[in-house]
Amino acid sequence: MNYEIVVGLEVHCQLNTESKAFCGCSAKFGNAANTNVCPVCLALPGALPVLNARVVEDAVKLGLATNCTIQRRSILARKNYFYPDLPKGYQISQFEEPICSEGLITIETDEGRKEVRLVRIHIEEDAGKSIHDIGDDTYIDLNRCSVPLLEIVSYPDMRTPKEASAYLQKLRQIVKYLGVSDGNMEEGSLRCDANVSVMPVGSTEYGTRTEIKNMNSFKSVEKAIEYEAKRQIEVIEAGGKIVQETRLWDSDRLETRSMRGKEAAHDYRYFPDPDLVPVLVDDDMLDRMKQELPEFPEDRTARFVAEYAIPAYDAAVLTVEREMADYYEETVKVSGDPKGSSNWVMGEVMRTLKEKYLDIAEFGISPVRLGGLVRMIGSGTISNTIAKQVFEIMQSDGASAETIVEREGLGQVSDSGAIEAAVREILDANPKQLEQYRSGKAQLLGFFVGQCMQKMKGKANPTVVNEILKQMLEG
Ligand code: ZN
Ligand code: MN
Repeated sequence: MNYEIVVGLEVHCQLNTESKAFCGCSAKFGNAANTNVCPVCLALPGALPVLNARVVEDAVKLGLATNCTIQRRSILARKNYFYPDLPKGYQISQFEEPICSEGLITIETDEGRKEVRLVRIHIEEDAGKSIHDIGDDTYIDLNRCSVPLLEIVSYPDMRTPKEASAYLQKLRQIVKYLGVSDGNMEEGSLRCDANVSVMPVGSTEYGTRTEIKNMNSFKSVEKAIEYEAKRQIEVIEAGGKIVQETRLWDSDRLETRSMRGKEAAHDYRYFPDPDLVPVLVDDDMLDRMKQELPEFPEDRTARFVAEYAIPAYDAAVLTVEREMADYYEETVKVSGDPKGSSNWVMGEVMRTLKEKYLDIAEFGISPVRLGGLVRMIGSGTISNTIAKQVFEIMQSDGASAETIVEREGLGQVSDSGAIEAAVREILDANPKQLEQYRSGKAQLLGFFVGQCMQKMKGKANPTVVNEILKQMLEG
């Protein structure tokens, strides 16, 4: 029998607020253990939580960006369970009345565009961290307690591991464009659980699902879902039954393992948190958040094509990341050359970032300086070959392209006298090739051009070299 995979994702996105969700402690990642704590996030008796307004604003923005209905009134609830990294004995979350519901995210698949529906987006707080890898003991770091999260829950609308990864990448792109999260999967800013089941092709009834946790890259999401679906099919084909449970992805052994039986919602004894008032979103806030929405990739791609007359392919590559698109636009402002700028950003800049494992924000050449370099190529002051040398120098030297070209004497030579002299020398030095050229071997022109450029250390204006060469070869 042929089976179809059914996947729904629950994604936890860590917001990049300055302070935590319910107290003034720093939400920063990587500080010394148990230094970002206070009576509220340590759950000392009598301490009361106060909701961070930025968390509500971020939730509304993400809801708007994913076509959700924004609930004007939502409720914070207690999700009760015991764990050593959860000092309160409950997590503040949202249950029956989340802030956003019924959204939509569009992904690109091999068969074209596809819409994945969202059940909800809700606000919640993170728990602390248990540390198991120091000696034989377990340590607890409560810095992460109460760091704000948005949980994004999709319908089981994805049918392949690839679609699930495309959805996750799209969601990451959206939160990064919004600026509400760094979307860093390795540091846990984006954590994904997958609900996976299989059913016979053509069936409308979903099979029993399992939940997979602990996938911390796009690749591992794909691999884990693929493995889990295969495992389920094998169990069913052998006459067995799928048990609803939580399974852990082991990225070293490339398999999922049973972790625990799946809790049902009633196990958590949810109830509205009596310490917190309902969350209200008024017209003012809604309008303000709409105003603050960025131009999203699809719109920006279309505008790049229309405004800069660059190919749709270039525009799509340049707008994958908001910072990269900003960088490109700044470069164009200075260079006045949209296509030249896109060639450089997509070529040398992206290649360098990849080689050095850098983000565009960490890149040493500002868009203003790159724009200056591209402008010098356009004006014929330097050739493309020389520009690459200048680009290398610029990475460790804060000077402008103009300054470097002047200081290093790299300006392009268009002076026909100097070029003529070089051509003369080349012709004299290669009598055999000259002879062959004159007896009809026209393709030797390229050889002579190359020799001349080399002779002039790449600085000669290639158009002038070509003209002069042709004249002198005929003569
Ligand atoms: Zn605190
Ligand atoms: Mn959650």
